[in-house]
Amino acid sequence: MTKRIYSADAYAKTMDAVVVEADRDDGRLLLDQTVFYPGGGGQPHDIGDLVIGDDRLGVTRVAQDTKGVWHWVEGGLPGAGTALVGEVDWDRRYELMRTHTAMHAMCGVMWHRFHSPVTGGNMKPGEGRLDFEVPDWDPDDRQPIEDELNRQLALGRDVEVSFLPRAKADADPSLIRTKVNLLPPSLTEVRVIDIVGLDRQADGGTHVGSTTEVGRIRITKTESKGRGFRRIRFDVV
Ligand SMILES: [Zn+2]
Repeated sequence: MTKRIYSADAYAKTMDAVVVEADRDDGRLLLDQTVFYPGGGGQPHDIGDLVIGDDRLGVTRVAQDTKGVWHWVEGGLPGAGTALVGEVDWDRRYELMRTHTAMHAMCGVMWHRFHSPVTGGNMKPGEGRLDFEVPDWDPDDRQPIEDELNRQLALGRDVEVSFLPRAKADADPSLIRTKVNLLPPSLTEVRVIDIVGLDRQADGGTHVGSTTEVGRIRITKTESKGRGFRRIRFDVV
């Protein structure tokens, strides 16, 4: 299995790695370790470069399977055993970390205000959208939510990553709203992202270390997605 450096250290921008397998049919490489996020939980996969001596191979896609994390590259594939250096497109990834953290903070604000569970979400660098179950939504709620979210972000809350044994996560009532019970039964350890004092959820993505790094957000649109469901779109500004 590929060691997922991003899982414990979201700020790692580069890594030394060795090719474990080269899949020539698909043009992809399995590496022994990586800083490239393979996508999931609404966060897109990273892009960047793999550097071998004077050669620079563009990474166009990253995904994971039971073997580990695969990197699709442009150009000729190096063979198994080749040593290389991976460089993630950091500007893009950092935008995604800020956006992803803002989304969790939004979940916290919506939970405290309405006890609304999040039902879905997606993001691009600098843009997030989240779906909530909000039976009593009023259009006048939009501005107070934006204001409260920006107030929370400005408090400089720490964002902590921890790994909980599955049984402990299942028994934690604060994680119930993130539907821990929907995680695959085979999962023995649950990664938890805690915006201390605001939001705590099981999550595989990458986040910034403090809410001040997010800066401010602006709600750009709220839409009805059927009775009692509301979609909120925002920009990180
Ligand atoms: Zn998340």
